[in-house]
Amino acid sequence: MRPPVLNPLFAAITSLPGVGPKLAVLYGRLLGREEPRVIDLLLHMPSGTIDRRARPKLNEVQPGQIVTVSVTVEDHRPAPPNRPRAPYRVVTSDETGLTLTLTFFHARADYLEKLLPVGEKRYVSGTAEFYDGMLQMVHPDRVVDEKGFADLPLVEPVYPLTEGLNLGNLRKAMDGALGRIPELPEWQDEAWVSRERLPPFAGALRSLHKPQDPRDIVPESLAWTRLAYDELLAGQLALAVMRAHMRRQAGRGTSSEGLLRAKVMKALPYTLTHSQQQAVNDIVNDLALPQRMLRLVQGDVGSGKTVVALIAAATVIEAGRQAALMAPTEILARQHYATIKPLAEAAGIHVAILTGRERGGERKAILDRLALGEIDIVVGTHALFQDEVLFHDLALAIVDEQHRFGVHQRLALTQKGESVDVLVLTATPIPRTLVLTFFGDMDISELREKPPGRLPIDTRTIALDRVGDVEDAIGRAISEGKRAYWVCPLVEESEKIDLAAAEARYEDLRRRFGSKVDLVHGKMKAAEKDAAMARFASGQSQLLIATTVIEVGVDVPEATIMVIEHAERFGLAQLHQLRGRVGRGSGKSTCLLLYKGPLGETAKARLAILRESEDGFRIAEEDLRLRGEGDLLGTRQSGLPGFSVARLETHGKYLGAARDDAKLILERDPQLQSERGAALRHLLYLFGKDEAIKLVRAG
Ligand code: ADP
Ligand code: MG
Repeated sequence: MRPPVLNPLFAAITSLPGVGPKLAVLYGRLLGREEPRVIDLLLHMPSGTIDRRARPKLNEVQPGQIVTVSVTVEDHRPAPPNRPRAPYRVVTSDETGLTLTLTFFHARADYLEKLLPVGEKRYVSGTAEFYDGMLQMVHPDRVVDEKGFADLPLVEPVYPLTEGLNLGNLRKAMDGALGRIPELPEWQDEAWVSRERLPPFAGALRSLHKPQDPRDIVPESLAWTRLAYDELLAGQLALAVMRAHMRRQAGRGTSSEGLLRAKVMKALPYTLTHSQQQAVNDIVNDLALPQRMLRLVQGDVGSGKTVVALIAAATVIEAGRQAALMAPTEILARQHYATIKPLAEAAGIHVAILTGRERGGERKAILDRLALGEIDIVVGTHALFQDEVLFHDLALAIVDEQHRFGVHQRLALTQKGESVDVLVLTATPIPRTLVLTFFGDMDISELREKPPGRLPIDTRTIALDRVGDVEDAIGRAISEGKRAYWVCPLVEESEKIDLAAAEARYEDLRRRFGSKVDLVHGKMKAAEKDAAMARFASGQSQLLIATTVIEVGVDVPEATIMVIEHAERFGLAQLHQLRGRVGRGSGKSTCLLLYKGPLGETAKARLAILRESEDGFRIAEEDLRLRGEGDLLGTRQSGLPGFSVARLETHGKYLGAARDDAKLILERDPQLQSERGAALRHLLYLFGKDEAIKLVRAG
């Protein structure tokens, strides 16, 4: 149960002033949550400040500077009747004798006469400029009288926004949210907090959203550091709880002679790379130990993780036990199944697939055979979590692309057997510094080499206005029998809009190339999607238009061309993943990144990295570096994926400390029952890690 004191923070965002159901949708988009709550808004960090503290006399004003000046209103000069589009000007002056002209476009005279009565003193804040040698200010941000000035925030935070949402509304809602923060217990080590002079949680939020000084809201500030550390600790604590929970049940120690592994390897049309072999050795050693395995196999797209997974499975199967391989999407599950099936069968291993699509009698038969132990390895989607899925003796859970699954889902699968060993496969080349954040302290095997014989992919960037040339080139490639993917842009989170773009492109190309063109997207029925994929895989169609559903795992070695439209809208890692769909066979492959100019410096650098490198690890590191620079440029939108507050470049250095803290806390108070333990439960809720609390209770 959530501590009731937190309730005001978990109220819907619509409970805040000025936020109705329509704006709630925009806040949802901004905050990455369907039903945003007060706490989500509070953890939305400012991206900068407007500093109105400069209070020069008019003779001291620097052009371009944001200033707050105290002036007397001299004269109103409305637009002349014959030029209604001309601006409305208000002339003001101060005791230096200089004048400042306030310029308003499309202004209403009655409004301005009230706001700036002739002869009165007003405080005016905005950006001052010289125009025709005269000092002027176009649309001042603020015009207030003496009384209003007392309340004027001289340092105002600025936030990342989303289209349709304005700063005024966000600030008002934030004001409301700040008023909801209850009295909270301190969950950090009190001695440390006071030594580091860190403010309490509530104080940190106030200082970030109501800064007195622009330095209050840089990520290095004490307030931001406090919140970042809170977030890191919550994450590490949740991981530690989960790990303790898993380790509590000792492993069983599956040793084997390796006969079945050898059979699988014999069935391979190639030999394992050195790093594949190393990963297999790591896994076999882990499995033999009487502790549970928690291992991450990290390898770029195409590095050959599936076969490593199968060989791992063969080890437990030889001992008469079962394995499950879970993938995040239907397409990917089928792909794994297709890869594994012939190899497994050659080695006498029984494989089945179980997704939402196996229904009725077929499903029942699979479930029965699983429960009886007649199926050795089952490949599937999250359908594998369901209660009806029972194993005879599940020994190994293999989870592909795990970061898409929640911690509790991973757990759900491991609870379907006795001390299940866990192998996680990830194609996202997360830099080592980040592995900890996502996976806690798992053991890691890296597949750094690619299987031999891969040709480099020729990657080019092309401006989108040359899309006609690209279509011509695709036409030539099709007539030569080649196969191409065409990925359509990610416009925004809304899948509907992505879809419209993809469908428009499909119509366009279909008109040109007829039945050679197919379309797949996330909203299609599974059977349709498979049919389209199958046509492309068999060569019946040669151009596959897709939204990002093809991002993970699709393996059509004959495809040699990848076109990515609006490449500037994709993340680097995602572009790398998409590009990894080609260059898998023996043909020379090309990747065309179509971008809409003009590109900013960072966007240019990002695309350049892709042209230069195919090393996923290097790309991931460069990506982080560029995001860091983006921050310096003031577009601080990056953040660690999955984190609201912590910024890797600034707070990554605290990760190790947070992990040690979490470990120590659990050693002393495994059930979080002490006073501090109770306070830490608040922390876990605030950062959405309450799954961990259930595990603490479950013991
Ligand atoms: P990943 O899942 O890591 O992206 P896959 O397991 O799908 O990669 O493997 C990509 C392709 O490489 C598959 O077609 C697979 O058969 C092939 N492959 C895997 N290991 C090797 C190897 N050692 N030598 C040659 N080809 C390999
Ligand atoms: Mg794979």
